[in-house]
Amino acid sequence: MIIDCHGHYTTAPRQHEGWRSEQIEAHKAGKPSPPRPRITDDEIRESIANGQLKVQHERGTDLTIFSPRAAGMGHHLGDAATSEAWASACNELIHRVCSLFPKNFIGVAMLPQSARVSPRNCLREIDRCVGEYGFVGVNLNPDPSGGHWQDPPLSDRYWYPVYEKMAEHDIPAMIHVSAACNPAYHTTGSHYLNGDTVGFNQLMTSSVFKDFPTIKFVIPHGGGAVPYHWGRFRGLAQDAKLGLLSDLMLNNIFFDTCVYHLPGQELLAKVIPAENILFASEMIGAVRGIDPETGHHYDDTKRYIDQLPLSAEEKGKIFESNARRVYGRLSRIIEEQSARAI
Ligand SMILES: [Zn+2]
Repeated sequence: MIIDCHGHYTTAPRQHEGWRSEQIEAHKAGKPSPPRPRITDDEIRESIANGQLKVQHERGTDLTIFSPRAAGMGHHLGDAATSEAWASACNELIHRVCSLFPKNFIGVAMLPQSARVSPRNCLREIDRCVGEYGFVGVNLNPDPSGGHWQDPPLSDRYWYPVYEKMAEHDIPAMIHVSAACNPAYHTTGSHYLNGDTVGFNQLMTSSVFKDFPTIKFVIPHGGGAVPYHWGRFRGLAQDAKLGLLSDLMLNNIFFDTCVYHLPGQELLAKVIPAENILFASEMIGAVRGIDPETGHHYDDTKRYIDQLPLSAEEKGKIFESNARRVYGRLSRIIEEQSARAI
């Protein structure tokens, strides 16, 4: 089985994002939110069958760990109440996709975060998504301000209620920012990669893994700048007398393969052990075009991994078994959803 651990519902029916705009406009005007729009099963089926499912079939992958559109989370918009209603609507839609295509999609939740609002606010939604929807992870935004970095770092006990909940449910968090509202950043070009790198560095200099020995984080987009600068981080850990970086991080930190060219994948696989790499493409998402140098989509990341000089066993870890290990509930949910599909 080939498991893509990073996909977003970027093709959701139009009225879903339309409602979000109306919700934020109503909030600005001090009015109550409009009622949620009707979205039919057929509309969802069509948006997936002509989108992510089609791409799965074309590329020969089997299952996508699927979450709401990341740039659409918009934790900097509205307030705690609008974030809660929006996260609830987005997660419900993911659950509907997973119910309609139980063999192809398993859910991950977005969280109802807001800048400078305690992440305790997220706990009920985590319980709901794991308990009622069978979701296997969460996307945790280290910067709900959208590029102004107003919240404490991930090392701070501020975040511990979420970490306790992750440990309780045996679910990992993908560290994933949302859209940037700071014009200094391009959302997918710099803010995403920056969020990945910042998150790694914050955790590296923290006692989070001493306090939560089993907790797991996925750093997306190939780990931002981290694998490329592995020597710098090793040296920083050494200077700070934190010990060996691999001992410090690699029981708890995993990198996905959303790197859109072969040389980048080669570096990732050379620097990071195969045990810590999870196959992912983030399709349909940040980069949608075709690379004129290869004639293939930039985000067709399976092609790059197929070309890496790794053993079949190592590739098996990257494509499947690491995901089953990191997402502790995944194997059980695969069985449950497959049984439902028959
Ligand atoms: Zn993403």
